[in-house]
Amino acid sequence: MILSASALDDFDACERKYALLHGYEPTFASSTAMLYAGVEAGLVDVLPGEGAKQAVREMAARVDLEAKGLSGLSGVRHVGLLAEVLSVHLRRVLGPLERVGDVSFNGHTWQSGLFRDKSSALHKIILIPHQDDDIIRSVAHRWGVVGELAVLKQEIMLTAVVIGQSRGGRRHSHWTKGLTHPVQKSLRFARRNGDKSGFTKGWQDVWREQTQTTAEQWLTAMESDGVLEEALTSRRVPWRSSDARVVSAERDLVQLVPRMAEASAESPMRRSACDDLRGPCPLQPFCWSAEGADMESLEERFRVR
Ligand code: SF4
Repeated sequence: MILSASALDDFDACERKYALLHGYEPTFASSTAMLYAGVEAGLVDVLPGEGAKQAVREMAARVDLEAKGLSGLSGVRHVGLLAEVLSVHLRRVLGPLERVGDVSFNGHTWQSGLFRDKSSALHKIILIPHQDDDIIRSVAHRWGVVGELAVLKQEIMLTAVVIGQSRGGRRHSHWTKGLTHPVQKSLRFARRNGDKSGFTKGWQDVWREQTQTTAEQWLTAMESDGVLEEALTSRRVPWRSSDARVVSAERDLVQLVPRMAEASAESPMRRSACDDLRGPCPLQPFCWSAEGADMESLEERFRVR
C-alpha cells in the first residue's frame, strides 16, 4: 500500500474522506491547496519564483480555483504571486532543497511530504493564517510530523510561514499587500525604528498584483521595514528511537493499514472533520447535499483517479 501523511491525516479525520479521495480527484481546489502546490514546487526549482508560478498555472489548468469574492483569473494571479514571493524567501533562508523520495516501511511505500537540504536536514513547511502556538503544536502532533519521524527516523525542522487571513478571495499580509504614496511612490509596510511620523492619509493599500514590483523588490521593501522576520518561525522537532511518541506512531501505522483498506463511501460521517485548518472538506457536496448525492451525479466536481 502507498502511505503518506496526508492519506493518514484524511483517514484519522474521516474514513469516508480517505476512501473517496483515494478513488476520486476533485475538479476544484481551495486557494490554500493551490498555494501549497505552488510553494512546494518553487522550493525545489532552480528558479523558485518561476517554478512556483508555473505550478499554480498548471494546477489552475487542471482544476477550478474556489476563490470567493474574486474572479478565477484574479484569484489564480493572486495565489501565483504569493507562492512566488514565499518560495523566493524560503529558498533564501533554507537554501537549495529537494523532495524526500519514497521510503520503504514495513512492506509498504511511504511517500514523504518533507524536503531535504544540502546538509541532509529534513524540513516541513506549513502556511498558517496568524502566529499561533496552538496551530503549530497541532501540526506537530499530526502524521505530517509524527509519521515522518517514525518512518524517516530523523529530526525535522518545522517552519511556519504566517500568510494572513483569507478574506474576499485574497490573503491579507505583508507578502501580498503594502502601502504606497501617490507622490512618494515608495512601497512601505510599517514604521521604521525612530520613525514617529507614521503614515498620513495619502498612503494607500496596494496589492502586489496592482504593481510591477518583482518578488525580489517586494522582499527588499519588507526587509527594510523589518516585517520579514516576524513572518517566519522555525522549530526543531527531535527524533529519538526510544521516544514513546515515536514508538506509538510506528505501532499505530502497522495497525491502521488494514483498517484503511476497509474504508468506504459508506463509512460513517465524521462531522467535526468537515471544516478544518486547510479549509472545508472537498467532499461536502457529497456528504452535505440536502437531496442526497452519489459521486456519479457529481461528475462536474469529481473525476475518477
Ligand atoms: S464532508 Fe465531512 S463527513 Fe464527508 S467526507 Fe468530508 S469530512 Fe467526511
